[in-house]
Amino acid sequence: MPDEAANIEPTLPDGEIVVGPWRLLLPRVYGFCGGVRHALHALEDALHRHPERQVWLLGDIIHNDTVNERFRRLGVRILENDHIDTGWTRASPEDLLVIPAFGLPLEVEQRVRESGLRPEQIVDTTCAYVKRVWTFVQDAAAQQRTILFHGTPGHPETRATLSRALTPQNAAILIPDPVAAEKVAAAIRLGSLADLTGCDVRNRDRVDLRRLAIANQTTMLCAETRAIENLVAAAVKAVGGDLRRAETLCRATQQRQDAALALCRRGCDLVLVLGGFASSNTTQLYRLAARHCPAYFIRNADAFTRHTIEHFRPETGKVENTSDWLPTLPGRIGLLAGASCPPDDVRAAVRKLQDILG
Ligand code: SF4
Repeated sequence: MPDEAANIEPTLPDGEIVVGPWRLLLPRVYGFCGGVRHALHALEDALHRHPERQVWLLGDIIHNDTVNERFRRLGVRILENDHIDTGWTRASPEDLLVIPAFGLPLEVEQRVRESGLRPEQIVDTTCAYVKRVWTFVQDAAAQQRTILFHGTPGHPETRATLSRALTPQNAAILIPDPVAAEKVAAAIRLGSLADLTGCDVRNRDRVDLRRLAIANQTTMLCAETRAIENLVAAAVKAVGGDLRRAETLCRATQQRQDAALALCRRGCDLVLVLGGFASSNTTQLYRLAARHCPAYFIRNADAFTRHTIEHFRPETGKVENTSDWLPTLPGRIGLLAGASCPPDDVRAAVRKLQDILG
């Protein structure tokens, strides 16, 4: 597993920063996780050791535009999500292929590994926490269980894990949110697939509502994942079924959400959440913070001035501009950063806030 003890960036500011009558609050843990550090080091190492070779990245290395753009400038060819399945076949026999931290769908990974490239030409940066989920779902699939997977539709990790959760003999159901989970729980109690609105059912004719396993994407909202698991477990118990469950949230996600919750409970007038808009773990930090106070999900320090802020709303999938976003009276501003947010972005946001509030 990634070394989570190395999560806390020692040179980042910590705790509370006083800016005149304002207070900037920082959580105990934030920013890059061990899995992200591992992926970035592996890619940098490949570039360093093979400067003469073209490096292909099969999707974003992590969900952060600043980081991906830096690698693009270094000559790395990054395939868009829609082109991952076949785009890599354009690589020449001497090129390097890099599998990102989210992993690849099983059939794509198999084709890559059987393509004739030497093992040292394939750099696999898939996070160990993601692989732990794969082991669990593959084991459950081998037992022909129907796998319930709580994850974000379309996310590369969801695609990669679902591809391993399914065999010709079993089924899988993607549960995107608690509303869909209610439908699954009702289906289990009724023994009927009639209403699974909101769910994505794979191999429908193989669904077994009494022999199940439940897992989740590593970066979901912890409280929501637990609630979904408990809801399903109660339904399975009520019908005398059999449910396998495992801890499949990653430790870095839990640590950051615990720290974010503690920060929100210290009392904030608003919270800024820094990170890539496609980042699952950052989206969960935003959702968590928005339950406590006004929260703005921003890409980096360039997103705001004293008067306006450009921010992303995961609820609508839209980027918006808001004026007069700061509280009228000086107060407490919390700052959260996802596991894919570079330390430099956090420092830049702190400096900018010090500038505009000082
Ligand atoms: S957030 Fe978790 S699963 Fe994702 S790279 Fe970091 S440690 Fe791995």
